[in-house]
Amino acid sequence: MKFRNFKMVGYVVYGRGSFNQLDEILAPQRKGDPPIIFLLDHYFENKPLAKRIPLRGKDKLIFVDVSYEPKTVYVDKLAAGLKQEFGTVSGIVGIGGGSAMDLAKAVSLMVTNPGSSADYQGWDLVKQPGVYKVGIPTLSGTGAEVSRTTVLTGPTKKLGMNSDFTPFDQIVLDPELTAGAPANQRFYTGMDCYIHCIESLQGTYLNEFSKSYGEKALQLCQEVYVNKKGWDDDSDDKLMMASYAGGMSIAYSQVGVAHAVSYGLAYLLGTKHGIGNCIVFDHLEEFYPDGVYEFKKMVEKNKIDIPQHITKGLTDEQFNTMIDVSLVMKPLWENALGEDWQKIMTRDRLRALYEKL
Ligand code: NAD
Ligand code: ZN
Repeated sequence: MKFRNFKMVGYVVYGRGSFNQLDEILAPQRKGDPPIIFLLDHYFENKPLAKRIPLRGKDKLIFVDVSYEPKTVYVDKLAAGLKQEFGTVSGIVGIGGGSAMDLAKAVSLMVTNPGSSADYQGWDLVKQPGVYKVGIPTLSGTGAEVSRTTVLTGPTKKLGMNSDFTPFDQIVLDPELTAGAPANQRFYTGMDCYIHCIESLQGTYLNEFSKSYGEKALQLCQEVYVNKKGWDDDSDDKLMMASYAGGMSIAYSQVGVAHAVSYGLAYLLGTKHGIGNCIVFDHLEEFYPDGVYEFKKMVEKNKIDIPQHITKGLTDEQFNTMIDVSLVMKPLWENALGEDWQKIMTRDRLRALYEKL
């Protein structure tokens, strides 16, 4: 038995208003001339947060387009642009949801690694550390702030750059930044965390480390989405810690069926991670009966729409593409169904599941 020896985030600051400490946090990282680059979710263009970015010297603020989940071509373009303009940079700060944070991680790595980010989609393919990188979530749930991956859609697959060089050097967890998010979006991303917990806690990779974080994150999600009457500051505080703990839980275990299936939807139809997981999880009673039961209650209580029949009318070829993308996710299937997963999740069974969505 070989135990995973995983790299964690370097520094963590948590608290309402902790974003105001960013300038001070970055100061020791400034290496003279090379600037710090801020990748800010385009939602914040013309919003007060954009004015609060602590720009100094040649620092640059780039509003990143997250209309689509990050693509390898976009990462390559951003990294090449920075190398051309500055030669090198002192650091990359990603501020936004999972998409903006993943872009920051990937761009940090591609400033120092040769070739295309598509060359590094997989496990432990990245060879050089990236430049200093900071993650600042404005939505809670993905756990991208703590994970060792950055999920990218490339020419042939949707797969992360999973490596010890991928985690952030610093994260700033300021629940104030998530306050204005629309209810539907907040639910979809929050449910990403809920689903991480269920898939981790019901998985075959579970150990006491994952369980400790997973149970706490699950409890926080339940407090926010099951017990509370409305949304308040405390909900933002709790969900931010749920996201962190949920991410820590899957660091030592894995996600499962909903994620493996949702990757196929994302690749073929561009369905976003949070909503895609919800669409799939809604139909996973046979794998996660208690979690799906509670999920349906939360959907109802929070008055959320979960799209239906999104795979209606797709061709055999399109179903096969989704099945191929999904079955690449071997560790997810193994965690969910055990070593014999290939005998359990046949192509026909997976096709039947996709047809239900
Ligand atoms: P997102 O980052 O894709 O953002 C969703 C939408 O919300 C965007 O339109 C964005 O502009 C907007 N938004 C962000 N913050 C806002 C705020 N405070 N107020 C209003 N609108 C806001 O959504 P997400 O669910 O956080 O992230 C999904 C992405 O994260 C996917 O690309 C997925 O692949 C990735 N992901 C990564 C990991 C990881 O471990 N690296 C884990 C899970 C998901
Ligand atoms: Zn997820």
